[in-house]
Amino acid sequence: MLITLNLFMIAHIIQWRVMGKTVSPIEPSETMHTLQKGFVNAGFIFFTLAILATLILGRFVCGWGCHILALQDLCGWLLKKIGLHPKPFRSRLLVYVPLIGALYMFVWPTAYRMFHNPENAPLIPQFTNHLVTTNFLQTFPSVAVAIPFLFICGFVTVYFLGQKGFCTYACPYGGFFGLADKFSPGKIRVTPACNQCGHCTATCTSNVLVHAEVKQYGMVVDPGCMKCMDCVSVCPNDALYFGFGKPTILVPKSNAIRKSYSLTWPEEIVGALVFLGSFLAVRGVYALAPFLMALGCATVTTFLTLKFWRLLRAKELSFYRFNLKSSGTIRKAGWAFAAFACAWIGLNAHCGWVRYHEFLGNRAFQKIKLPDELALAQPNPARWLSPADRENIVGGKEHYRAASSVGLFANSEALPKLAWFEYLLGDAKQSVQTLGDAAAHQSGESKALSLYYRGAILNRLGRYEEAQASLDQALAERDDLILARQEKGESLWQLGRREEAVSVWTDAVGRNERLVLVNNELAGAKRLSGKFEEAAAYEKQADQFTPNDPFYHWILARRLQDLGMTELAAKHFEQAGEIDKGQTPGG
Ligand code: SF4
Ligand code: SF4
Repeated sequence: MLITLNLFMIAHIIQWRVMGKTVSPIEPSETMHTLQKGFVNAGFIFFTLAILATLILGRFVCGWGCHILALQDLCGWLLKKIGLHPKPFRSRLLVYVPLIGALYMFVWPTAYRMFHNPENAPLIPQFTNHLVTTNFLQTFPSVAVAIPFLFICGFVTVYFLGQKGFCTYACPYGGFFGLADKFSPGKIRVTPACNQCGHCTATCTSNVLVHAEVKQYGMVVDPGCMKCMDCVSVCPNDALYFGFGKPTILVPKSNAIRKSYSLTWPEEIVGALVFLGSFLAVRGVYALAPFLMALGCATVTTFLTLKFWRLLRAKELSFYRFNLKSSGTIRKAGWAFAAFACAWIGLNAHCGWVRYHEFLGNRAFQKIKLPDELALAQPNPARWLSPADRENIVGGKEHYRAASSVGLFANSEALPKLAWFEYLLGDAKQSVQTLGDAAAHQSGESKALSLYYRGAILNRLGRYEEAQASLDQALAERDDLILARQEKGESLWQLGRREEAVSVWTDAVGRNERLVLVNNELAGAKRLSGKFEEAAAYEKQADQFTPNDPFYHWILARRLQDLGMTELAAKHFEQAGEIDKGQTPGG
């Protein structure tokens, strides 16, 4: 069944490639777009139906319809082929991670909007149809992210935490399915033919104590049961079957079944803290580790940290068939394990260090109140910064520099913000360099934005050819980045290619007639070529949308002055002065 599922996924992608459009991804994570943006997509419908079905039939979707489970099964099978039987890691506290993850993914955004809604956006977004898509991979991570994600969540978790390691300790969808299972009557049930041989428990890769539960309750009540039917098929007495019974929530819990756990209580608490720290460190680092991958990594980090700690303290320790320590001496396998654990934990510490500096850099970044247009009105925006702003930016710049200079990968998140700090502090040349570095490691919208800002700063520096090249690249990434057209027109104008400039600006106002600066630029260009009627029309259009703000007029004046459109520049300097009663800086 799981092989069929993977073939179906491949067929879905091929069909999209051939026909150019297809049903949107049937992925539960797509539900986030429904809850936050109102996009009704196939993933949302699938997840809703799956939860409703789970309420009746139990947690069967995990066992029969999940590609990550298929990967975990494949890994378990491969390990068994080489004689390694994944042993379940049993924790009392980490089992709550999937449900917490699910609440964070699917409930928290709505709850947050309910209590913190500055723009008065509706709590329930307006629903729109997104069942069919032409950009199937839009919400998927890149291949560079998907491969390590599948490797960590499908293989590494199985090796260290057992065959359902990811399901048990990380998967947020499993968190909801497990909860729904508690309310469901669909159960693995038993007949009197059971003789408690324990084959079922030995077979179950979900760590369910099948023989004990069916003896105690007449059915499996553990919400970890994925209704895979493995136990049913191996039972030598045909004593197990799928049927309906009391939902787990109504079954009084018996003390007769004592689960054994891998950790002591102090270890549980340390483990929970390590998990949290690792998750915060890894999530989003280098824009490479999405939420689920961070959860998977954190479970592995927790296991390795606690096992490493035991390696240091215990007299005897083994892992699979490997003897890590005996009679207080660490063996070869123990040293190999220690080396791997230190490398993994060290990598987490590195991620934490990067994220810590990014966090402080972002805090400084959010404090900046200087609008981009004002900062970009002249090459050095230092005049607009108060001493406190400057101190904040200097501090933030150091944090971004720390987050991007000792990295294992280029930090494409931190670099553009570092570049902006450099620009604000008056180092426009370095800023251009940093934005170029950022763009080289970005793609799509973020790359387009870095190239746009680079082009804008190059324009302010008078390096018009480089500016035009950068803006062309930005537009190649995102054709709808209209401000890049505005700047490109300025580069062309300054290079003396005035007809081309006018054509680019005309194209821009054709896309958005409210572009005040571009309308002014067209008015200036028409005036200079003696076409006064057309100039007046553009000027009128610009004035219609110009805010009554002295700074705004001053920005327009500066930009028009740089382009040699002096009459219009003078008009806006004057208006800035009038509005501000003569107190506005005058160029
Ligand atoms: S818990 Fe998650 S990963 Fe595991 S089978 Fe269910 S949906 Fe798949
Ligand atoms: S082996 Fe049996 S108890 Fe274990 S998950 Fe499958 S159906 Fe449930």
